[in-house]
Amino acid sequence: MAVLAEESKVLLHVCCAPDATVPWPELINEGYETSGFFYGSNVHPFDEYEKRRDAVRYVAKTFGKRLFEVPYCPSEWVHGIATRCKGMEMIKKEGGPRCALCFWSQFEAAAKCALEQGFDALCTTLTISPHKKPDLVNGIGKSMAKRHGLQWIERIWRCRDGFRRSVLKSRELELYRQNYCGCVFSIRGE
Ligand code: SF4
Repeated sequence: MAVLAEESKVLLHVCCAPDATVPWPELINEGYETSGFFYGSNVHPFDEYEKRRDAVRYVAKTFGKRLFEVPYCPSEWVHGIATRCKGMEMIKKEGGPRCALCFWSQFEAAAKCALEQGFDALCTTLTISPHKKPDLVNGIGKSMAKRHGLQWIERIWRCRDGFRRSVLKSRELELYRQNYCGCVFSIRGE
């Protein structure tokens, strides 16, 4: 686990609003100056992206913290997956090579933002999900942070009942909760 000064500036990659409800306040409580980063180009279709983005904006406002975003560019995300992951893009199940590349794309965008904005470290909300493999997520995050001279804050947010607590907090905040991971390939029943 990274050892950071308490005043370190952390950029938290936020995959969606409900998943941020536990990690974001916990990092703040640990003493880190924590801002959020939302990618979103993996999300299909556009109105779904808008719902998720607006919910993340609402959470940032609720916690009184800054949120960084990048322009919605799904063609870039799809191109990256299709060229580097041939044949895997149509697999609906989460957790395979397509998802590893997806994490890579999202963390790469977060790392660039972190450097531009003077952050010391990166973290992600992804490990609160029971559908994500923490070792895979943290492994990719660590590599990405190292490449950019940043620290990676390794956490498995679903420990200590984290997922259930995030569901309760999301209900309390009346957050939009999606029923599929995000990309066109993960839409159930398609
Ligand atoms: S299922 Fe989720 S994590 Fe996997 S590629 Fe699609 S959006 Fe990314």
